[in-house]
Amino acid sequence: MSAGSLEIRVSPFNRSRVSIIAIGRKLRFKQYREKVYVSAKQFCPFCPGNEEYTPPAILVLTKEMTFKKDSNGFRVRNWLVRIFPNEYPALSRNINVRAGKNKYTAYGYHEVIVETPLHEEDMYLEKTEHTYYAFLALRKRIKEIINDPNIENILVIKNSGFKAGASIKHPHLQLFATTFTPPIIANEIKGFKECMEKHGKCPLCEIVEKQSPRTVLDTKYFKVETRYAPQQPYELIIIPKKHEKNMLKTSNEELKDLAWILNSIVKTLKHVLKKNSINYNYWIHMVFKNIGEYHWHIELQPLIETWGGCEKGSGVHIVTVKPEDAANKLRKNLKRILQGCRSHRTV
Ligand SMILES: [Zn+2]
Ligand SMILES: [Zn+2]
Ligand SMILES: [Zn+2]
Repeated sequence: MSAGSLEIRVSPFNRSRVSIIAIGRKLRFKQYREKVYVSAKQFCPFCPGNEEYTPPAILVLTKEMTFKKDSNGFRVRNWLVRIFPNEYPALSRNINVRAGKNKYTAYGYHEVIVETPLHEEDMYLEKTEHTYYAFLALRKRIKEIINDPNIENILVIKNSGFKAGASIKHPHLQLFATTFTPPIIANEIKGFKECMEKHGKCPLCEIVEKQSPRTVLDTKYFKVETRYAPQQPYELIIIPKKHEKNMLKTSNEELKDLAWILNSIVKTLKHVLKKNSINYNYWIHMVFKNIGEYHWHIELQPLIETWGGCEKGSGVHIVTVKPEDAANKLRKNLKRILQGCRSHRTV
């Protein structure tokens, strides 16, 4: 579990440039390949039976729907979800945090959430209950971590596909708990403040209430829209209808709805893009401490266009599909995919 040294740097003239220098992480591809790996080519450390190849799990949701823990010489079998520290972390608790001295430190938690015992994403997408279980375990783990007074923010991300940054194919999420609010979320907090001052209303509550040609899905608890100003074609935002800063108070019923939405959306994207597998990321934006008004949400970005110098050098993204047309296409295909299975849903 050697992380190598970790160092955090913030650009003195642009505070939205934050870097963690984590040289230990470059070993991760090499070591996974070597461990095999010797014997079987297709070895997956996240599959059931290979629990010893990961650090002991901090939280395991078992098939009996109980929460358990691994220990050094013991691994819980018969699991639905496993959460353990990343073997090659970008954050560590072995870092001295001097309260109030410097918010930007590499202190924190970097954990992996194996969402399902199923290795293949296509099989996983057919099991909405598995996604729901992953979110149940995630909500519990977030509740535990946020008790650490040094932690200000928790970011949850999904990398699916090698181009989207996944080094292992097995469906999994990652969690980054940090002593600071990441710059994109900090920018959104500023944006929320401006909107509230201007219109007296939360901008995401406004999206929830308004009819829009960008609406893709409108369920009991969530609204899904294509982004107004996207960075990729078909980029989506999933907004809970309840105005909350984070998902700690999200009910089990709401999590079930969210699981169904995520699986349906990914299946529809594959269909629309006519691909068996797509590269995509999603991230859950939440705020925990009292640092401003916020409405939590998920942003899902399929990787379609390669960003060039314009996007990287200016922050201006050239996108070739109009978000309103993208929504129209997604709506039509969602209907086709869902036909017969969940007819009570509003699409
Ligand atoms: Zn696997
Ligand atoms: Zn709101
Ligand atoms: Zn956001």
